[in-house]
Amino acid sequence: MGLLSLGTPLPWDQAKLLAREVRQHGIEQFLHIWRNMKDRQKDNLLWGDEIEYILISLDHKNRRARLSQRGHELLSLLQVEENERLTNPGRPGEKPELEALWRPEFGRYMIEGTPGHPYNSTVDELVNVEANMKRRREIVAENMTEDEIIVSIGSYPELGSADFLDPPHKPNGQFLRSLFLPDEVVNPHPRFRTLAANIRERRGAKVAINMPIFHDANTPNPFVDPTIPYERNLFPEDSEAKKGAALPDHIYMDAMGFGMGCCCLQITLQAPNVDQARRMYDQFATVGAVIMSLSASSPIFRGYLADVDCRWNVISAAVDDRTPEERGLWPLAKDRFVIPKSRYGTIDTFLGSSDGHFRPEYNDLPLAYDKDIYQHLADSGIDDLMAKHVSHLFIRDPLVIFEELLDQDDSVSADHFENIQSTNWQNVRFKPPPPNSPIGWRVEFRPLEVQVTDFENAAFSVFTVLLARAMLAFNDINMYIPVTKMDINMQRAHSRDAVLNEKFYFRRNILGDNKLPESESKPESQLTSDSEEDVVEMSANEIVNGSLEFVGLIPVVQMYLDSIALDDAVRSKIDVYIAFISGRANGSIMTAAAWMRNFVRSHPAYKFDSVVSPEINYDLVIVLDEMARGKRLVPEMVGTGGSSV
Ligand code: ADP
Ligand code: MG
Ligand code: MG
Ligand code: MG
Ligand code: MG
Repeated sequence: MGLLSLGTPLPWDQAKLLAREVRQHGIEQFLHIWRNMKDRQKDNLLWGDEIEYILISLDHKNRRARLSQRGHELLSLLQVEENERLTNPGRPGEKPELEALWRPEFGRYMIEGTPGHPYNSTVDELVNVEANMKRRREIVAENMTEDEIIVSIGSYPELGSADFLDPPHKPNGQFLRSLFLPDEVVNPHPRFRTLAANIRERRGAKVAINMPIFHDANTPNPFVDPTIPYERNLFPEDSEAKKGAALPDHIYMDAMGFGMGCCCLQITLQAPNVDQARRMYDQFATVGAVIMSLSASSPIFRGYLADVDCRWNVISAAVDDRTPEERGLWPLAKDRFVIPKSRYGTIDTFLGSSDGHFRPEYNDLPLAYDKDIYQHLADSGIDDLMAKHVSHLFIRDPLVIFEELLDQDDSVSADHFENIQSTNWQNVRFKPPPPNSPIGWRVEFRPLEVQVTDFENAAFSVFTVLLARAMLAFNDINMYIPVTKMDINMQRAHSRDAVLNEKFYFRRNILGDNKLPESESKPESQLTSDSEEDVVEMSANEIVNGSLEFVGLIPVVQMYLDSIALDDAVRSKIDVYIAFISGRANGSIMTAAAWMRNFVRSHPAYKFDSVVSPEINYDLVIVLDEMARGKRLVPEMVGTGGSSV
């Protein structure tokens, strides 16, 4: 999310009346961008990461760790220099570039940091990534008090448990109406609480998030959560939990904050042109689940060990604003579409490109899309797949509308387009250039869980960038699988120890299915359908490291690295990152999720009943902080490379 608009966000009953207007203008804005930018060529492969941190305050006397609401104040300190430069930019080159940029996130205790400017396109610069990430942590630390730490994991273990917030507040806020989360956990900018309230109102109920409980030796079976205040009677929504929203054997959560309060690592990459951006989008969509399983760092929710390792489904359910009609529970009467997935989810349709690898059968989900918008885009010269993509995004309503910003000049603004685009939270995002900017066509890779240490965050970022470069260098790379198989992969990637135990659908042969030179594409009539053997099930290890049957993603990256001239020192540093990714995939290095689960289960206070007590949580976050600051080496989770660089 970029800088936030200021103004008055409309409540849902008013916003919904303006949805059509926002969509209409959003489409005109997209068309302006398309016409002006579609022929852009030769943009550099600039890229940048986003890391989300949570601020924790420690109460050493009572051995308690709590989420600190001071995150929001800390953020304004971190932004002082950037804001100063907005008003007083100075002459070019006069001031050193900012090392980092800081952005708000949904949680008041959250902070998002990115490099001060995107990384350039050279492979050499990849060795600077980790240092910048470490610098970011130092900059935050310079602004913290003695009893504060920041940690980076997918889900904060105690979010929504009895005593998790500093200062404490009762969960009785109008916006979330949660049984567990007070409104005070939400970033105070009005955008965020309106987003939460409007999702709830549009849905017609609170969101219902249920993650399977990890059944340990002493966990009651079935597990019925004794901490849910079933009988509370403060809001009409309070009765939902006992009427079936809270499932047995699950950890029940009832507010947007449980999802958007999670943290992730995202990577945005600029492509040379729109066609290559479409290629990157499709390929990254299919590899996402496998790489997410390697990055798992979310084994605990609301004080309980879960039987999953990843956060993705929690966020998906946390922002699921679909009405009962849209969810297919009631026949369509008022609403326009049955929509199979939440607006946070995997993509539903590939974009295709001129490489000739896409086949219509890969888009095998019945696609909900706005037929009028599709027709308008098609009449304006947009190709079928791009028109489907955009008219599919535009089945959603804009959730937050600022009255002051309604009136825009569609030839220079992308606000209305971005309103819909930026609340379609998918595993990959196709980012068109902002109007009148030097920025080109970009793709954002979004499934990764954030890592505890910057060595790991750098390793995943570097590996992602190298995959993108290999994709661009080898036009033959073809990783298409049908969208429905990609969805299955994403679900499998969640499960506990997925990296060790699951199989993922993948293309058996990702190189050289199609030996066409770069600019040619096959006419559709010459395409043969995939046969059964083209898409097979493999373990994460086979997919990442390769096997007798399959080349492997790492060997492809190495082929790319071998094909370019690289300084020995650069190559050996990159090899350390690759060795780490390889170790995660072959199971010799544990995920953070597996490590945290072990930590809890070997803690003397753990009763083997799935409960992660505040005392265990305190000990856990202290160790996580020590790891992040290099004060404690945990080779079983980070490998040995983390200490040598
Ligand atoms: P959002 O939250 O919308 O995904 P952010 O602005 O928070 O976007 O982060 C975007 C990332 O993209 C940052 O890491 C930034 O450095 C990077 N970035 C900025 N400009 C470009 C560009 N032209 N090409 C690729 N990446 C870029
Ligand atoms: Mg961001
Ligand atoms: Mg973010
Ligand atoms: Mg987030
Ligand atoms: Mg992002």
